[in-house]
Amino acid sequence: MNPSTEGKTKLLRTMQRTIVGYGLIAEGDRIMVAVSGGKDSYTMLDLLCAAQRRAPIRFELIAVHLDQGQPGYDGRPLADWLAGFGAPYEILHEDTYSVVKQLVSEGDTYCAPCSRLRRGVLYSAAARLGCNKIALGHHREDTLQTLLLNLLYAGKLQAMPAKYVTDDGRFEVIRPLIDCSERDIVAHAQAAGYPILPCNLCGSQDGLRRQQVESLLTQLESTIPDVRQVMLHALKNVRPSHLLDVNVATAWAERRPELRPDLHAARPRGHLPILP
Ligand code: SF4
Repeated sequence: MNPSTEGKTKLLRTMQRTIVGYGLIAEGDRIMVAVSGGKDSYTMLDLLCAAQRRAPIRFELIAVHLDQGQPGYDGRPLADWLAGFGAPYEILHEDTYSVVKQLVSEGDTYCAPCSRLRRGVLYSAAARLGCNKIALGHHREDTLQTLLLNLLYAGKLQAMPAKYVTDDGRFEVIRPLIDCSERDIVAHAQAAGYPILPCNLCGSQDGLRRQQVESLLTQLESTIPDVRQVMLHALKNVRPSHLLDVNVATAWAERRPELRPDLHAARPRGHLPILP
């Protein structure tokens, strides 16, 4: 197997485990795959199509890309790639960039209103296309960075789930790549030669803190080489009785009897549990 096939196979296996483990896809689903033109969403679409061909169940995929009207945007490489790739797709044009510029004050970052507007456009498209699920390309590093950002800056314990239902209850949002490492995705995307669209067209500075927590992860890796996998494991190995959130502790105490933590569950090699 050549290295590029090997890289894709590894990612596909990880993604399929995530899909099965979290029940992300069911018979008859019609899934809108959000394609931004970055390495993650190209990889997600490519892997989902590969998984669809092998799956014992039937589900549909439709790739959707949104042109947000950012200055210098050129979506032609992506449009050409989608046309050649063979999956059903749609490209939307909505100048949310101009709207965001009017909404934000000087010096403020664009991300909050930009994401809100983008979400609105994508949800409308999902409804029009008859989709019940929306797939987003977030990966392991996205969820770890979000965990650290919330922990260090917002004072809350919150990462990115593999799936959730939208506030209006209309769609399930799924993240099939949530267990995949960004390094594997980067290597695969380079080997696959996806025509990546630049992601700095909006000029937003909101990514600064995200870069800082990513540096923190890299620093930790120098002394704890598998720290990213260990942290990912921690997100799946929560002990609600040993946190300080009264509501969580109460809900946990009142859980159904079958929902008990397995204190002897397998842990990553080389790491002893930190006991109370
Ligand atoms: S980085 Fe740019 S495109 Fe992405 S959410 Fe922020 S403003 Fe929008």
